[in-house]
Amino acid sequence: MIIIIKKKGKMKKTIINTIALIMFFTGWLNANEVNIFSARHYDSDVQLYEKFTSKTGIKVNVISGKSSALEKRIAEEGSESKADLYITADAGRLGAFESSLQGGLTNAAIKKAVPSNFRTSKWVGIAKRARIVYFSPERVSGAELAGLTYESLADPKWKGRLVIRASNNIYNQSLVASLIKNNGKGKIAEWSKGMVSNMARSPKGNDRAQILAVAAGEADIAVANTYYLALMLSGKKGAEQQEAAKLVKPFFPNQDGRGTHMNISGAGLVKGAPNKANAIKLVEFLLSEEAQNHIVNNTFEYPMIKSVSPHPLVVNMGLDFKQDLKTKVVNYGKRQADALEVMTAAGWK
Ligand code: FE
Repeated sequence: MIIIIKKKGKMKKTIINTIALIMFFTGWLNANEVNIFSARHYDSDVQLYEKFTSKTGIKVNVISGKSSALEKRIAEEGSESKADLYITADAGRLGAFESSLQGGLTNAAIKKAVPSNFRTSKWVGIAKRARIVYFSPERVSGAELAGLTYESLADPKWKGRLVIRASNNIYNQSLVASLIKNNGKGKIAEWSKGMVSNMARSPKGNDRAQILAVAAGEADIAVANTYYLALMLSGKKGAEQQEAAKLVKPFFPNQDGRGTHMNISGAGLVKGAPNKANAIKLVEFLLSEEAQNHIVNNTFEYPMIKSVSPHPLVVNMGLDFKQDLKTKVVNYGKRQADALEVMTAAGWK
């Protein structure tokens, strides 16, 4: 009796193996994966992809690197590229890479989840971030901040008091692109000169370095993205940065006008993607409540969907600010070259 069962088991195994071999050679097994090229540098994203795999059985292969290197590789490999999905932070970056994207992330579920200003026919936002002003409450009064706009950062009253990173930074290029969209290139060329003359030092370091400069008294105000203050306050960047973060306060500009400058992390389907259907499924998953909760609690970004709350440290920064939902993020790519041109012409390092 025992022998018969064993034989049956063996036979079953052989049949399964044969089916698997046929599926492999006909490409069925190959199809159950998705290849992501990601410029997001978060370990938590990998955990997120594991969740997707356990839910769907779709294997997620991740190639991570700097956006410029990933874009170069996809472009060079052309039709040979295995890339399905390109994921990066900043709409300006996605916009500049549009010619290698095929579109197709426009189904009803995606459109419902993502407000129209945070997507195009080629790519879609999966999380939001704001680029805001940080200030020292010891050296900057409420009266000085009242009505502050990005435009008014070039006011001479901030001379020698401002820090912001270099002009080659994509976050700055997108911010300046949005300013050009709203004010015209000529006005923002002048504004860039004012910004340069207000700088407390020649631009250096990342966004956290600007916040640290205000904490250290090198400057009174800084421009940086929202999630960096929460990241520093969380202690994930060490006790020193945590203490420094407590010495600065966030301020959301342009509240009396169009609202605070918003940007996205986003995804685009690469032209010739071999696993298109799986890539679309993954994007839908990234916009689900489960994935959005995972994202905001690890990266301190704002959720793209309404039903999810940001991390408590981000909630503490204030959620009642007006977001600029008028300036479509697609403009950040369209005006990127103009933005870099006016900054460079003004001597913005
Ligand atoms: Fe960042």
